[in-house]
Amino acid sequence: MNWRTALDGDAILGEARDLLSEVVDLRRRIHAEPEIGLQLPKTQAKILEALAELDLEITTGDQTSMVVATLKGSSEGPTLLLRGDMDALPMPEDTGLDFASTAPGRMHACGHDAHVAMLVGAAQLLAAHQPELQGNVKFFFQPGEEGYFGAKYAIDEGVLEEPKVDGAFALHISPNLPSGMISTRAGAMLASADEVAIKVTGRGGHASSPFLAADPVPVACEIVIALQTMMTRTVDIFDPGVLTVASIQGGTAYNVIPEEVALLGTLRTVSESTRDAIHDSIVRVAEGVAAAHDCTVEVTIDRGYPVTVNDKDFVDNTLEVLDGVITETLRMPAPVMGAEDWSYVLQEVPGCMAFLGVCPPELDARVAPACHSNRMTLDEDALAIGVASHAAVALSYLT
Ligand SMILES: [Zn+2]
Ligand SMILES: [Zn+2]
Repeated sequence: MNWRTALDGDAILGEARDLLSEVVDLRRRIHAEPEIGLQLPKTQAKILEALAELDLEITTGDQTSMVVATLKGSSEGPTLLLRGDMDALPMPEDTGLDFASTAPGRMHACGHDAHVAMLVGAAQLLAAHQPELQGNVKFFFQPGEEGYFGAKYAIDEGVLEEPKVDGAFALHISPNLPSGMISTRAGAMLASADEVAIKVTGRGGHASSPFLAADPVPVACEIVIALQTMMTRTVDIFDPGVLTVASIQGGTAYNVIPEEVALLGTLRTVSESTRDAIHDSIVRVAEGVAAAHDCTVEVTIDRGYPVTVNDKDFVDNTLEVLDGVITETLRMPAPVMGAEDWSYVLQEVPGCMAFLGVCPPELDARVAPACHSNRMTLDEDALAIGVASHAAVALSYLT
């Protein structure tokens, strides 16, 4: 598909900057009242209120607090989905901001407050361009990104249908990129994320007489090391994976051999074939090591979000539309090993996710507190670039 590339970037940026104070105000109000999971009534109410004046067709989720607002263009054409996720994280906030979280133990530390506000700004900007749009824009406000599979619920409830979605674009802020810079890449951009649990069972006994027991503690340790050897010796370094065993739990006293030890960890990959192969290897290694020492294992791997794969044409077009027109852009040399449920949308529709740099000007982007840090802050001026980027992608895609 050919996108229009001759956009008046200065004009779009100017319109986005005119909306910035409203965008920042909405972002701060959402930031102060973070909600977690799939039911986000306060956040949903703020979105509906902010969109009320615009000529949009609005639906809300049955199982979640999602909001889908469709802007119909002046003539028939494709439909572009723009997404902002809505949920916060279960963690304390230590930013000292005067609009910091008022809900103890909850924080918008992943910037989803900014994602919502930028998408509302884009809806305002694009509504003013409705006569130019040949096709439709669907603004998709999504709950439950942080491990709740919110995008999957939305797909099940038809977010990609009526009108059928042809392309999809999402922004995610990053405090570790210079403010205002957009970065993305073709192919895998984010990893899959699976939870691995291994229960090692032996025979408990007196710690002075291990020969009368089957001690699961050294066996669990050996499994951790064997898994690391498996990762470095069997996984193609050009199709990599990360397996971190992050928790070992076992035992109750210095003189008791426990019956069980539990290991917990995360597996990240950037291809589905490597992901499946490592699943098999984890079971084989854990069972083999345990059997060698007269213990047994139970391996449970909970499949989380799949690999987020950006469409090459969509990425090329997006970078061409934005680079030097709206802002500076960067092609990421490698994927990031975090995960996103936007991956489910990109399994169905060609599109991409891009990072928007939001490093505060007084900080160094390399060491600025990252997403999910209790001290994460962002440069709100960059939100105008985010609004303009959403708008520029839509105007190019639909005219
Ligand atoms: Zn996050
Ligand atoms: Zn996020």
